Amino acid sequence: MSAECIFCRIVAGEVPADVVHRDDDVVAFRDLSPKAEVHVLVVPVRHVPDVVALGAADPQLLASLVRVAGEVAAEQGDGQFRLVFNTGAAAGQTVFHAHGHVLAGAGAADVGL
Ligand code: AMP
Repeated sequence: MSAECIFCRIVAGEVPADVVHRDDDVVAFRDLSPKAEVHVLVVPVRHVPDVVALGAADPQLLASLVRVAGEVAAEQGDGQFRLVFNTGAAAGQTVFHAHGHVLAGAGAADVGL
């Protein structure tokens, strides 16, 4: 855990969040500034800076994160979703704890890209 990392602090329960999934490896919570009807962030409990580092450090954990993203999309909507990993500041990453944006429902197809 990194004391300066906002997502580590959410995972630890030190900062409140609207958590929709929690297990030993992965936590999912609603984005503070939603860009679509469903906008949930799926994060590993373990602190790694981005999705590439996550895949290199623990491929199984990345697979778990993708599974949870699908479960969240099925629970919160009809199971169709976009999964976006901004990687690097120039690509729009602002929190350097790996996270996937689950975007679903109204507005999801209109976000970025
Ligand atoms: P990114 O720009 O890809 O790094 O995504 C970071 C996301 O985290 C943004 O969509 C923010 O709205 C979201 N965010 C930042 N702080 C919080 C927080 N405390 N709770 C929920 N979402 C947050």
